[in-house]
Amino acid sequence: MQKTLQRLFIAFLMLALPTAQVQAQSILRDAETEAFLRHISEPIFLAAGLTPSSVKIYLIGDKSLNAFVTGGQNIFIHSGLIMASDDVNQLLGVIAHETGHIAGGHLSRRGEGTTAASNMSILSMVLGAAAILAGGTDAGMGIFMAGQTVAQRQYLAYSRVQESTSDQAGALYLRKAGISGQGLVQFFNRLRNQEILAQVRQDPYVRTHPLNRQRILALENAVTTSPYYKTPPNPEDNEVFNRIKAKLYGYLEGPVQTLRKYPVSDTSVAARYARVYAYHKDLEWDLALQESDALLAIEPNNPYFYEIKGQILFENGKVLDALPVLEKAIKFAPHETLVATAFGQALVSLEDKQRMMQAIPILEDAVRRDSSNSFAWFNLAKAYSWTGDDAKASLATAERFFAIGNPIQSMVHARRAVDMLKPGTAEWLRAQDILFVSERSAARYKKQHKRRRRATDKNTGGFQSSRGFDRSLTQTSQQKYRYQHPGRGH
Ligand SMILES: [Zn+2]
Repeated sequence: MQKTLQRLFIAFLMLALPTAQVQAQSILRDAETEAFLRHISEPIFLAAGLTPSSVKIYLIGDKSLNAFVTGGQNIFIHSGLIMASDDVNQLLGVIAHETGHIAGGHLSRRGEGTTAASNMSILSMVLGAAAILAGGTDAGMGIFMAGQTVAQRQYLAYSRVQESTSDQAGALYLRKAGISGQGLVQFFNRLRNQEILAQVRQDPYVRTHPLNRQRILALENAVTTSPYYKTPPNPEDNEVFNRIKAKLYGYLEGPVQTLRKYPVSDTSVAARYARVYAYHKDLEWDLALQESDALLAIEPNNPYFYEIKGQILFENGKVLDALPVLEKAIKFAPHETLVATAFGQALVSLEDKQRMMQAIPILEDAVRRDSSNSFAWFNLAKAYSWTGDDAKASLATAERFFAIGNPIQSMVHARRAVDMLKPGTAEWLRAQDILFVSERSAARYKKQHKRRRRATDKNTGGFQSSRGFDRSLTQTSQQKYRYQHPGRGH
């Protein structure tokens, strides 16, 4: 029931938005993909003199080819770019080029990424006030709706000089990291073919990163002189790349397309992985479980194979069967907060005091590592509430709304937490902090909305859509629904 509601809600958003010139985007969160992107990018970030942990990579669920950076150190990659790359080096080439934009400080405007002092989590800071969590996880994949800040950002084009500088910087980082730059040239050559297309048919990357013959020649020159030019992609990374690509394909495409691309006759790990998602989507639970068991037979220590199997069992209502499987996933990936959240969610869904007690330290650890994980906060609040700790439940709810950038709700719950918590404790101080920041943002938010509404009234065809605000209201009422009807969940 809840699942169907969530799907309908997401479908509604998707349908409601394409008319706008600037569409909202969905951010996909998947433990394996995030770990992989972090792992392969690390040598490039180091070569660029950046601290790897301070650069955040977000995956956007969008079929077009695109990658872009926002102020601060955030790289956004469209799923379409991964799905269209032939090997990991093409993806790495694009990441190296985008890292060049970050290191070069291109287009970092005042106010973009400079609000770190506001304490708002990075996610809500980047995505704007409309960032919301559209339901929990779906086959282990979390979906967030990104606000228009991100959507608009990706349409800002770079200058030719900035492009050439980033090409040269990217080539240098790749060389320092011992990676061939051939992939970047291949990727750009593919995009060049799009230049003759009408703008609407071009991938956004072509529009925002202007290409020309001269630029490609200069890049070719830089990469062919590298001693690693002929070095093939790292085989292990490339294998994981193929799995991620298959996983995204299965998750984002229809089951029919997935089974056509990854037919049953293909018994590679990647193909099986894609089919797990295709069957899951098709509600063929038994077949999905069969494929995940086949994967586990090949790699019995792979946490993500346990994660997907546990998630399928969970979403199929077999919570007690899911628990030991998800526990195994945590055992093999103890630091993955999204995996821990899946386990916590399963425990909380049983609505039993003992299970809640078990879930609390797991979820507390997850939010300690990633405070932007609003779904973990949601489950944690429920667990606190079940164990009679209303003060902490209010604080966790305040944190949840804080993480999704809803200052009005985070203010309400933080105020409640401040009243109930013991003054001077760490929790009380945290509630005070949230209250302080939320009050200020809420005032700004209300003022902006008033201004925006006035502007929209004047010019209905303009850019000043109030959708962001409407959406967060819809989401709030949806969350209220979930909150008041906890028994309806999964
Ligand atoms: Zn560029």
